[in-house]
Amino acid sequence: MHVFLHYVHLRKRYILALALISTLLIFGFQKISSYLEERHIATLSWTVANKLIVIDPGHGGVDPGALGTTGIHEKDIVLDVSKKLALILREAGAEAVLTRETDRELSDPVANYSYKAKIQDLSRRVDLANSRNADIFISIHVNSFPDPRVDGAQTFFQPGSEESKRLARAIQNQFNRYLANPGREAKQVDYFANRMARMPSTIVEIGFITNPGEEKLMLDQYYQSKVAWAIYAGIVRYFSEPKPALANP
Ligand SMILES: [Zn+2]
Repeated sequence: MHVFLHYVHLRKRYILALALISTLLIFGFQKISSYLEERHIATLSWTVANKLIVIDPGHGGVDPGALGTTGIHEKDIVLDVSKKLALILREAGAEAVLTRETDRELSDPVANYSYKAKIQDLSRRVDLANSRNADIFISIHVNSFPDPRVDGAQTFFQPGSEESKRLARAIQNQFNRYLANPGREAKQVDYFANRMARMPSTIVEIGFITNPGEEKLMLDQYYQSKVAWAIYAGIVRYFSEPKPALANP
């Protein structure tokens, strides 16, 4: 009996040590892989030089977007993240243009913000990218859902646009690598802005404001920088990957 207990005790220790070692190994592997990816992105950053990238901070002014439990609005979070992304892109030599730099809507002033005003607002954002022949159009948003357990950043692309799909997937990969609550996939949805854009475009939802943990993260300056960097890394990956048509002539 005594020997048996001793054996159980040893086994328990052995299992615990093994669990600890595997956790450390997995953690170490993830750290090394993230570090290598960061170095890779730095090496490939030249691929965005001279590219014209239009960044669209969703909503603004009379249109606040989704509302968080702390009273923060989607329009404020996405403006902060967009400005951070523009800075990183400019440092890499890209031309980054924002559809709005302040808390304002792009539609004409109206007494009641209607569907018509919303369409005018969205059209003006995409028109800016179309008229300037932007290389890509990135619209940044924050998601919301009735169930507060739902979380995770996700990208969306226009059905039928292979290049937009490639862009959305490249950013989604970096979200899953660097952000909290990974696991989502780039999804095709027919959204007005993506449909009207004449260049590869994506709508990125950086997290759920209705999830208390994610809302807290999205208010954090450091996390916002992380989100901006992940989008940037996705953009670099998109421009540095060979186009499928060229890869398989
Ligand atoms: Zn939105």
